[in-house]
Amino acid sequence: MKRLVILGGGESGVGTAILGKQKGFNVFLSDKGKIKKKYKDVLKHFEIEWEESQHSNSKILDADLVMKSPGIPDKVPLVKEIVQKGVSVISEIEFASKYTDATILGITGSNGKTTTTMLTNHLLKEGGLSVGMAGNIGDSYAKMVSEKPFENYVLEISSFQLDGIIDFKPKIAILTNITPDHLDRYEYEFEKYIASKFRITMNQDENDFLIYDADDEVIANWLNEHPVQSKLVPFSLNREQEFGAWLKNETIIINIQPNNTIEMSTDFLALDGQHNVKNTMAASLAALLVNVRKESILKSVESFQGAPHRLEKVLKINHVEYVNDSKATNVNATYYALDGIKKPIVWIVGGVDKGNDYSELMSMVREKVKGIICLGMDNTKLIETFGNVVEPLVETFSMEEAIKVAYKIAERGDTVLLSPACASFDLFENYEDRGNQFKAAIKKL
Ligand code: ADP
Repeated sequence: MKRLVILGGGESGVGTAILGKQKGFNVFLSDKGKIKKKYKDVLKHFEIEWEESQHSNSKILDADLVMKSPGIPDKVPLVKEIVQKGVSVISEIEFASKYTDATILGITGSNGKTTTTMLTNHLLKEGGLSVGMAGNIGDSYAKMVSEKPFENYVLEISSFQLDGIIDFKPKIAILTNITPDHLDRYEYEFEKYIASKFRITMNQDENDFLIYDADDEVIANWLNEHPVQSKLVPFSLNREQEFGAWLKNETIIINIQPNNTIEMSTDFLALDGQHNVKNTMAASLAALLVNVRKESILKSVESFQGAPHRLEKVLKINHVEYVNDSKATNVNATYYALDGIKKPIVWIVGGVDKGNDYSELMSMVREKVKGIICLGMDNTKLIETFGNVVEPLVETFSMEEAIKVAYKIAERGDTVLLSPACASFDLFENYEDRGNQFKAAIKKL
């Protein structure tokens, strides 16, 4: 019996354990931290051996195969030791994909993964296809494979998941964009992070597709220098695409079937903002490539309910709109949020900065932002960048305080936008907690 060792007892680890057990592996799961009770219950139920608060090398180093959760860096000594012994260290998507013949749609990129994944899932489901949505979103992919035989999987995939693939081969890959992120895991070399994202294409052949943002220079340059086997399906906001999608005035034009151009007015899209035009192009292309009917796609892009914490409209109070974009944890995401909002903005920003360069936002801030509310432990950089540009600029240290200040500053017709451009760990548990506190504070007003 082959021994499968799983490092990390979260959603993907426990899901992999279930599938591994079902497929006849001798499974051992080890987590250096505490495992949540709900997962312990599952492990007990499936009679899977596990440990927490430690890694016992003796039980780990005899593995035939190791599945590592995406949160564990490759440079951890234990992982290095396993690799040195010649044992494969893989990710959940690699493991689970071996046990399904379904069509796989894999979505990666620095921003827009969750939105594009959810929209693609919606288009396929409304189009009548059998589809499971997993990856970095919702339930474990491996667990899903163990339970339900879907014909299609729409997977949100991080670069860490891609670092752990060997044979993973999506029929359709979507690369939303590439901007510097998570560089601490890539030795601060942007090239390594880009290479990691492009691993999504590494096993694709000429019958598979790569849908990508042709306006993204990082992607375009990389493709010039590192050709891929996959059939290229570009989308663009400003250049006509013979095979792909582009925006002509305010209409999305999609050309992938001969003599069957689709035209989609952006006025009817459920999601606002230029970035969501791109996400809609990507998802629609994917849906067409798996043969969802054009009429169904046109209907479904209107009916889609966006994901929470992503430009989520919360409430209107005294003609002031409150928008929760707590998921914007980097400058690029916030750029698109500021770009997408057409009204004067009272902007709540700040948190744990991952080496942010706020000057990229300067022209947008000058044009649209009428008040800045810093919400973080250390607001020095924000004050340095915008202190002489926007007045008022107020420092706050709790969400409730931030909302009270915003309420005072905002006038009829304005939008109060939480788009932090930063991680949330200084004052909040995570971005969901931050977004939920934002919503709760508004409801209290
Ligand atoms: P991810 O899962 O990659 O983090 P999300 O869909 O959760 O992406 O969106 C994260 C943030 O990025 C949101 O705040 C949103 O405003 C912004 N965003 C969404 N799509 C795009 C895109 N195509 N390009 C740039 N920013 C985007």
